[in-house]
Amino acid sequence: MVRVTIWNEYCHEREDAAVRAVYPDGIHGAVAAALGGQEDVSVTTATLYDEAGNKNPDCGLPATLLEATDVLIWWGHVRHWDVDDAVAEQVQQAVLRGMGLIVLHSGHMSKPFMRLMGTSCTLTWREDGDMERLWVIDPAHPIAAGLDRYFDLPNEETYGEPFDIPTPDELVFIGWYEGGEVFRSGCCWRRGLGRVFYFQPGHETFPSYYDSRVQQVLRNAVRWAQPTARKAELGCPNVTKPTAKFDE
Ligand code: ZN
Repeated sequence: MVRVTIWNEYCHEREDAAVRAVYPDGIHGAVAAALGGQEDVSVTTATLYDEAGNKNPDCGLPATLLEATDVLIWWGHVRHWDVDDAVAEQVQQAVLRGMGLIVLHSGHMSKPFMRLMGTSCTLTWREDGDMERLWVIDPAHPIAAGLDRYFDLPNEETYGEPFDIPTPDELVFIGWYEGGEVFRSGCCWRRGLGRVFYFQPGHETFPSYYDSRVQQVLRNAVRWAQPTARKAELGCPNVTKPTAKFDE
């Protein structure tokens, strides 16, 4: 069983009727629906803010929940800086100890992602609803399973290069927009024992998380990111005895 936690700052959907019309159950609800119906995947949602707009304790992510999470999915945009440094640190440490992390869309500037990347994670953007063509760069990659050479999203926020990230260990998608920009839209890294995937689609005013190809990517990414090894804590143990002695 893969235990997935979907974390959303949950502000646009509460504060903006146009966004609520697209995502009446919240972006976390739409992503949860995309992952639902799989017998070997259990889905939990967590939010920074509750329905009334009050900040949840531990930013919605208590240590007990993180420990019970195999893959954390992160959507944030306008409240990155409301996430406590201690929580961002716990997420970073959980990844280094083996938890998988999938960072969506504007989560490129979230504290956990920036900590794990070590770069500014900045990019260029335009919000005029361009069509995006997502090219599958690595058709043999497990995250691209079941996809054609490319797929189109009729409207997305344009994200453009330069995207200030460390060179990805594996590049799965490049997005091309009708305005001419290109963007590394699906990027994989190993950090410690954990796996990190960044996936660009998912602007709050566009219904990208209802698209069957986007949903396929999310399902594939959860399986790719699930832990293969996990440590309870990180450290540099002093191994006092050699493992072998060789005669001269
Ligand atoms: Zn956006």
